[in-house]
Amino acid sequence: MGILETVSKVNITENSWNEAVGEHSVISDQFDGVTFYRVLKKVGQLNKGTVVTDSEVIFDFPRIARILQLENGIKLTFTNPFYVEEKVDGYNVRIARVQGRVFAFTKGSYVCPFSTDRLIDFFNIDKFFDENPDLIICGEIAGPENPYNMETPPYVTEDIRFFAFDIRTKGTDQQIPIEKRYRLFEEYDIPTVTRFGKYTASDIKKLKQHIQGLNEKGCEGLVFKPINPSERMVKYVTASSCLRDMKATSPVMIETQAEFFTHRMLRAVFYLLEHNMPLDKTFLGEAGESLLKSLYESVKKASDGEMITERVNVRFNKKQNIKKLFEHFHKCKVDANLVSQKKVGKYWHVEFVRRCFPSYEVIRKHWSGHSHFD
Ligand code: ATP
Repeated sequence: MGILETVSKVNITENSWNEAVGEHSVISDQFDGVTFYRVLKKVGQLNKGTVVTDSEVIFDFPRIARILQLENGIKLTFTNPFYVEEKVDGYNVRIARVQGRVFAFTKGSYVCPFSTDRLIDFFNIDKFFDENPDLIICGEIAGPENPYNMETPPYVTEDIRFFAFDIRTKGTDQQIPIEKRYRLFEEYDIPTVTRFGKYTASDIKKLKQHIQGLNEKGCEGLVFKPINPSERMVKYVTASSCLRDMKATSPVMIETQAEFFTHRMLRAVFYLLEHNMPLDKTFLGEAGESLLKSLYESVKKASDGEMITERVNVRFNKKQNIKKLFEHFHKCKVDANLVSQKKVGKYWHVEFVRRCFPSYEVIRKHWSGHSHFD
């Protein structure tokens, strides 16, 4: 099948496809000799994040609406029963077989060389995709040794783990029904996010207990998934995760949109009020520290002429994939330098440093006295 025939199946004409390619709304990419297109700007029903190959379309992972008030949000969203899952803090991958190879695609529709290298550690990908070549497994990769996310769930204390939460079919933006999904996860022994089971809006007391437990443990939150496809999926996060997000991003606050912080402050305040938690000295102290401590350290470093950096460790199965991760960083304009790579037991342990040059540059400018309008 050719690319035009493939896109015609999702109602995109030859003209609109060629126009999208000409305008760079869709760009061609390749990984390990496999060519595919990445959608950067919406084309027809294809959103940013969609992957198109000669013979199939892998739709983007959909956005999930957020509720800030758990009880009212649940009552307003669901009239039918829904399933509740933990929201795991990591990064999203869609795992699919393309031209006989199994890849992990990021939300931005890149093949992630690191995640792809590690797929064999998660589940029996050959068996699953031999028997289900048209399915896509979606999940979160989380843990302290990952290349993208500085946060980790408290129960992953080293390396990374994979947590599946969704199964989709190529060529459609629909997920397969939740109960079938759970059966497939079990049948193929695929690790999943914690599943809390089936609830209705009247079970709010139990849901509050779950979220409070997650807040205390340092987990991110919950995702609520409808059984009835006419209802929408929603997410809700803990106050503690808001502080952790702010803390992890504070070193590069200068290059982050202000909304990143205001949204998290708002979520945290809503959480405290709904769950009758005081805005006490401890919370205020933690919030202040999350916002300011690392920023203070960044400004101190940069004003002394020292680059702002983040140190990252990751583990690979195959040595040749380490180079591919750096090629991927180069493509995504991430400024990262390899520090060391050594084989320890089963894995190649890699250490690299990410340079936060935009933050460094702005701080240097301010420190050296340049005036500006704000
Ligand atoms: P969005 O695209 O929904 O606006 P975002 O990039 O701001 O999202 P988040 O606030 O982290 O991301 O929430 C959505 C993400 O949560 C999903 O893309 C998915 O990767 C992740 N996630 C973690 N656990 C689950 C789960 N159990 N079910 C669905 N998604 C989950």
